[in-house]
Amino acid sequence: MELHFDAVYYEPQALDYPLGKELRKKYEDLPWIPIESHNRIPELSSSENREFGKLKQHLVLGIRKTHKYVENHKVSDWLVPYTSSGCRAMCLYCYLVCNYNKCSYLRLFVNREQMMEKLLKTAAAAPRPQTFEIGSNSDLVLENVVTGNLPWTIERFAAEGRGKITFPTKFDMVKPLLNLDHRGKTIFRMSVNPPEIIRRVEIGTSPLEARIRAANEMAQAGYPVGLLIAPVILLEGWKEMYAELIETLADSLCDEIKRSGFLEIILMTYSFVQNAINTEAFPNAPNIFDRSLMTGRGRGKYCYRNEVRAEAEAFLREQIESKLKMPILYIA
Ligand code: SF4
Repeated sequence: MELHFDAVYYEPQALDYPLGKELRKKYEDLPWIPIESHNRIPELSSSENREFGKLKQHLVLGIRKTHKYVENHKVSDWLVPYTSSGCRAMCLYCYLVCNYNKCSYLRLFVNREQMMEKLLKTAAAAPRPQTFEIGSNSDLVLENVVTGNLPWTIERFAAEGRGKITFPTKFDMVKPLLNLDHRGKTIFRMSVNPPEIIRRVEIGTSPLEARIRAANEMAQAGYPVGLLIAPVILLEGWKEMYAELIETLADSLCDEIKRSGFLEIILMTYSFVQNAINTEAFPNAPNIFDRSLMTGRGRGKYCYRNEVRAEAEAFLREQIESKLKMPILYIA
């Protein structure tokens, strides 16, 4: 898969780093526009909502300056800011839009050595082995198509790191990861949804079949693999769609995943900002904000009402128990 961009916005100091130089060459035919900071590009942040799709065509290069880890209590112990934030795909619910609004385009940070050093030091200093989530701000498998950062990260952490790293993805481009010396220290998590939701809501991501194939290949390459059914979106006909998804998983996941994998299930949350952007930028997309099922959760955010959540949760548990029999780590 090749990713095409229409322009690169860059902090000039980024070109002092090997990745900056490499990308300068790789995208030499594009316009390169110098910026003061990847966090402040007034000509982009002042764009109209309807230009969201156009903004996603840009690539932004910078140096990551904040390296603060946030405690987490799910698969990982810590959320780690890593080599990118933002993403080229356009899932209608993407939580990155809550953080970056229209500016949720792909930003690459060229100072990966510095980020890895901190990761290795923090891992070594922890009282017991920790798991670090390095993909909470972007999709690293997609990022890898541009940067090649993942094989470097996986092998370096395998050789020098203590504990584990993990990242989720909605993409299938795992070939460069299959023959790495990962030593089981990377937990790969594939996110899945019914094909119709992928096609209409997770715009620009890999189809379900390809995601399942990629998860199987990773498991067969010895990586610990988990699946995320996320986010569960209660569009009309959701019971049929998710029942079918679970059947497909039961039929096509390899034995390694069924035997030692795990499931995370996350029901969709949505925000006022996303609704505003989606309404203007994707007028023909399905409306995933259903007022009759959702309720406010503060600060412009919405989630499914308690009784709706309870019904979805009971349904999914029952389907998984009867068809897939994989352990559910949590339903959030
Ligand atoms: Fe956001 Fe992930 Fe979709 Fe990218 S793939 S737009 S990071 S939800």
